[in-house]
Amino acid sequence: MAGKRILYIEDNPENRMLVRRVLTAEGYTMIEAEDGPSGVRAAQESLPDLILMDINLPEIDGYEVTSRIRLIPQLTRVPVIAMTANVMQGDREKSLAAGCDGYIQKPIDIDVLPEQISKFLSRSNHDN
Ligand code: MN
Repeated sequence: MAGKRILYIEDNPENRMLVRRVLTAEGYTMIEAEDGPSGVRAAQESLPDLILMDINLPEIDGYEVTSRIRLIPQLTRVPVIAMTANVMQGDREKSLAAGCDGYIQKPIDIDVLPEQISKFLSRSNHDN
């Protein structure tokens, strides 16, 4: 999975730094955006292999950002993984309804993150 490009849309710089550190050490190339509109632009420009989507973003939440990304023809099938601390029932369903492929719960567990990412990537490879 090394060399794959991951777009992380997240407004919290500490989370971005943490995930960047862990995933670049695994050989991934990180692309980052700190809000929804720039995230949609970055997705369109970079056509990443996978998108990590913070749900709690300012102005436009991650569900809406995911819906917008799904409208980009080249990105209808890119894996989008929702990341949220919300554990309320229905969040999982809501993220799937918005077009997310999976769900990683915050706080981020750096010991399992690489395995979660590679699972989502290999699943999408089998689909293609
Ligand atoms: Mn956030």
